[in-house]
Amino acid sequence: MFAANKTQDERITTCRKCKFYKKKSKTCGTPIVGNKVTYRKKEHKLCGCFVDIKSRLRFAQCPLGKWSGENNITELEYKELKKLLSYTVSEVTREQNREIAILHRKYLYSNAKPSSCRSCVVKNINDLHKIIEQYEQ
Ligand code: SF4
Repeated sequence: MFAANKTQDERITTCRKCKFYKKKSKTCGTPIVGNKVTYRKKEHKLCGCFVDIKSRLRFAQCPLGKWSGENNITELEYKELKKLLSYTVSEVTREQNREIAILHRKYLYSNAKPSSCRSCVVKNINDLHKIIEQYEQ
């Protein structure tokens, strides 16, 4: 769940130099709710996260791409994730639901469980997709 100390330090250093960092609240933009900004001629939504906490999370990412998550999964793990998610485009079987929860716990150190709540399953799938995207960058 936690990024290496060196990674955390680098992220915090980057944030403190960022013009969108709020020194008073130590957040990325407006605390908690975030706010929209224009960066490199595109509109982005800042996360409003407390940077000291966010920088510690292994898979966290800067909304402007100034720093990214640690993608230290192995090639085998990458293939395992990719294969599972390729099957889960429209329907998720009970077995896949179980596997998604297992991999969510494994990579994100969450307490995810197989769920009958569609939006919960979709959220878990999207979280796992982010890990794949980070690996592919
Ligand atoms: S997370 Fe990114 S946008 Fe937010 S304060 Fe840090 S560097 Fe700036």
